[in-house]
Amino acid sequence: MDSPKLIIITAPSGAGKTTIVKHLLKVRENLAFSISACTRTQRYGEVNGLDYYFLSTGEFKRKVAAGEFVEFEEVYENQFYGTLKSEVERLTALGKNVIFDIDVRGAVNIKKYYGDRALTVFVAPPSPQILFERLRARKTEDEESLRKRIARATEELTYERKFDLTLVNNDLETALNEAETIVDTFLSSGFEGLKKLSYGNFHHE
Ligand code: 5GP
Repeated sequence: MDSPKLIIITAPSGAGKTTIVKHLLKVRENLAFSISACTRTQRYGEVNGLDYYFLSTGEFKRKVAAGEFVEFEEVYENQFYGTLKSEVERLTALGKNVIFDIDVRGAVNIKKYYGDRALTVFVAPPSPQILFERLRARKTEDEESLRKRIARATEELTYERKFDLTLVNNDLETALNEAETIVDTFLSSGFEGLKKLSYGNFHHE
């Protein structure tokens, strides 16, 4: 078998990447989710070891010092998120292709680490205004946290061209179908195959 590939779904916060990742995991058995480590508070309904490995800041920093991360970021002030090498190894050892839901900077770093074994997909909102409305409608954050997320999303929108392709999430149903085709095409025929798709603004060089 070919060595497993990596699919990195990234986006400004609120563009709908988590919905896309969850959908792909449901419909494709050859994919497995890379469970990140993070230091933020566990939200209601989240499961430790399934959604994230929830660590204390001390534990997280010890793992950073021990070189255990492929990449990590302070995504929000005092909130660290990172991809553990052991996690990618665990999943690829099972023969699975690995799918990641990570922020734009982490995605740039993972791509550097894995090169053409990895596809980076930037999920773009139809417009910045729509993105901010979606963030407000989520209601999982307090005002201060929401303000931080809007500021960050504004900066994240500028990253688009650093990734292999862009998927615009205008109509969710369409975006989910396109995401399935993009993943299938990458796994079967790599970047050459993706070049031939009529959607997904292709930037890979
Ligand atoms: P949330 O707190 O909403 O679960 O995630 C906040 C942001 O952190 C999201 O953009 C999410 O994709 C990102 N994130 C989750 N895991 C990782 C990771 O391992 N590394 C990086 N760099 N970002 C991550």
